[in-house]
Amino acid sequence: KCSMNLCEYLARQVKQQSDSPAIKRRDVDDLTYNDLEAQVHRVAALLDERDIGEDDHIAVYMPNCPAYVPLIFGIWHVGAVASPLNIRFGVDDLVFVLEDIQPTVLFTSGVIADKTDELESRVISLEHVVEVDEEGEFTEFPAANEAPSRVKRLDEDPAIIMHTSGTTGDPKGVVQTHRNIGAQVDSGIAVFRLAPDDTAVVAMPLFHVGGLHGPALMPLFSGGTVAILPKWDPDELLRAIEDVGATYTGLVPTMMVDTLEAAEASEYDTTSLRFCFFGGSPAPEPLLDNFRETFQVELSNYYGQTENAGVSITLDPEDDLPPGALGKLTPAVRGKVVDIETGEEVEPGEQGELLLRGDIITPGYWERPDRNEALFTDGWLHTEDIVRRDEDGYFYYVDRKDDIIHSGGEKVPPSKVENVLQDMPNVEAVAVFGTDHDRWGEAVTAAIIGDDITEEEVEAFCESREDLPGYMKPRRIVFVDEFPRTGSQKIDKVALADQVEP
Ligand code: ATP
Repeated sequence: KCSMNLCEYLARQVKQQSDSPAIKRRDVDDLTYNDLEAQVHRVAALLDERDIGEDDHIAVYMPNCPAYVPLIFGIWHVGAVASPLNIRFGVDDLVFVLEDIQPTVLFTSGVIADKTDELESRVISLEHVVEVDEEGEFTEFPAANEAPSRVKRLDEDPAIIMHTSGTTGDPKGVVQTHRNIGAQVDSGIAVFRLAPDDTAVVAMPLFHVGGLHGPALMPLFSGGTVAILPKWDPDELLRAIEDVGATYTGLVPTMMVDTLEAAEASEYDTTSLRFCFFGGSPAPEPLLDNFRETFQVELSNYYGQTENAGVSITLDPEDDLPPGALGKLTPAVRGKVVDIETGEEVEPGEQGELLLRGDIITPGYWERPDRNEALFTDGWLHTEDIVRRDEDGYFYYVDRKDDIIHSGGEKVPPSKVENVLQDMPNVEAVAVFGTDHDRWGEAVTAAIIGDDITEEEVEAFCESREDLPGYMKPRRIVFVDEFPRTGSQKIDKVALADQVEP
């Protein structure tokens, strides 16, 4: 059994980068690696003073801010488990999640100041609610030299419990061990060739792998610098890239659309950007072309899940592949594609469910034996995503198993219909999903954002496309001004279907 506390990664960089900037802050001094370590120690000292340590669960409910990072490391320092919570959760969702993980401490800023009494009375396990200054001065905390020594952890000890957004049911707490996250970050640093002169802007939420593991932990574990956006604002992203000379960032496709729009109305200098990784949901090809051209950056597709502690498949920007290509497995994971009915591996080119195993894969959901039994087969994680793998080992995304529309006995992958509609002039964005239908079970439904388009034109366009079989053509077409989004800025298709349901 190997022992390893994720704090050791940071400690290594503190030695090598001591006075280099670790976190860039707006309007206040940068935090150097030495400063960051001192803050981590103050957090650890406070927890130790309150007798909080090994295996305690600690929830963090704060917007993205510089204080977030030392809180997470301080929690790991004392051997406790961090649970970063979706900032969009209202009190009832919060109580649901807190009762699930039973934390002893909740770190929060002023965001729920008026609700803390209610939380403390409803969540029995909570012993301390600690208010933290978002800029991360930690002045109310004990001095750094009062910190206990770092607690040893085994590879398989949990470091984080992170809840999926719950677009597919109740939020589930995904356990990520020290090994899961360490292997993920090591693999990301190698794949993206990160070096100490890299600076990332965190645009995604820190309660999500797309924010915490990618643009926050990866640079900090490789001696680089991080700037954190307080909330999603595309103009602020462009401004931050200019201000800090960012070399990369990570976005989901809806954020890329927003960023292109913001760039039209502004003139920030973004030439420092080396690459941008994107993922979380399929991205239409015209969007990628437009983004590449506007910002003159390399784009790296990443595919992953909270259950994979982030990324498991990446596409090298040099590879010129057809739309839908996700890329190849990272060195940290093995994968196979199996028939949904039989569980047997399918031939290259055929589609099936993606199964994964390796150091980055979660040991399971927190306290959900009902879900965990179905989550693994012989140690392989079911991703519940339908993909195809070609002869050369490149994966192509088809759709989420649950999103496949069952219409009149046929199976319609929404991404296929979305790709076609995206080619239509004046279509700015499109989302395809199923809505209840008396005759077909589900009707293929397209929600479109765009100017000057009529239903008849969309129908005629679909009619003209030979690559769209009749059963895949949308039966219902609706026009909307914007799409509802999940906490991680993805299109929330469940909410969208509710919105358009007759
Ligand atoms: P929930 O599981 O509660 O619905 P979620 O969408 O927030 O929540 P994540 O773990 O963030 O959960 O999302 C993982 C899913 O996102 C994958 O299973 C896959 O369907 C989709 N996805 C991730 N990356 C890509 C990508 N590059 N291209 C297409 N789809 C992707």
